[in-house]
Amino acid sequence: MNTSASRLESVVREIAEEMRARPDRGEVATYIPELARVDPGAFGLVVIDADGTVAAGGDSDVPFSIQSISKVFTLTLALGMVGDRLWRRVGREPSGSPFNSIVQLEYERGIPRNPFINAGAIAVTDLILSRHKPREALGEILRFMQVLAQDSSIVIDEAVAASEQRTGFRNGALAHYMKSFGVIENPVEYVLGVYFHHCAIAMTCRQLATAGRFLAHAGRDPTTGHSVVPPERARRINAVMLTCGHYDGSGEFAYRVGLPGKSGVGGGILAVAPGKASIAVWSPGLDAAGNSHLGRIALEALTRRLGWSIFGV
Ligand code: GLU
Repeated sequence: MNTSASRLESVVREIAEEMRARPDRGEVATYIPELARVDPGAFGLVVIDADGTVAAGGDSDVPFSIQSISKVFTLTLALGMVGDRLWRRVGREPSGSPFNSIVQLEYERGIPRNPFINAGAIAVTDLILSRHKPREALGEILRFMQVLAQDSSIVIDEAVAASEQRTGFRNGALAHYMKSFGVIENPVEYVLGVYFHHCAIAMTCRQLATAGRFLAHAGRDPTTGHSVVPPERARRINAVMLTCGHYDGSGEFAYRVGLPGKSGVGGGILAVAPGKASIAVWSPGLDAAGNSHLGRIALEALTRRLGWSIFGV
């Protein structure tokens, strides 16, 4: 179904207004103390269609902590560096466990189930680090985000990174446990340092939706013509987002929204309507699985109103 620019803009504005009026917001993450300071009333939504029309509603230009959404981009970078050999280090099956779970690692000899749970993303960060010094690895990840978002002003929120570095004991346990199986090559403190910092990149919905465009359009940004990954790789990253992008809420997200998507505990979600649009939503209150409560509800309303679910109207 083709959606005109004016229809898209009015649907996005409508949804942003409806979401801002709702009393149910979920709970802002507090396990990273710095994230607990975010305004729970914030809400932003940006949709960029194939023609480059930007439909924006609410706090679309307020930067927020992208957290686990960064895992989509580190996966993309690491696949570019080592290709399909990456899948020897991390699986691509849904975990059915919380984002920071350690139990499955014991049964699978330290190989994380997928690149989007914390253990998997830490293993992917280690792969990137093996090709760089820590500062260069982080610089490369940040530059990748800036290029994709076409905005060199994007930065890492050092207060968020420091806050997680002080309190990220669970991620430390995951990394040490994987190291004991030889799944992590580099010193654990370097791997965690890079991981915490890429999670602490701050972006707006507009920047994030721009950065995700290559996933919606067979690996290339349709406006710049810049090819980021081959079409097959974009399709496969989308497949992993669909099955694993929302932790143990991935089934529910597919059922309700019907798009590949990746959430972060900062309350953001990047969603991809293949061939149609890249979408970023932000509402800091989370549901029980650690995914944005209103973000998911807004995306469900969007795909229903526009007929965009990949599973049919
Ligand atoms: N930096 C967060 C952590 O490792 C990311 C989790 C998330 O966004 O879901 O706990």
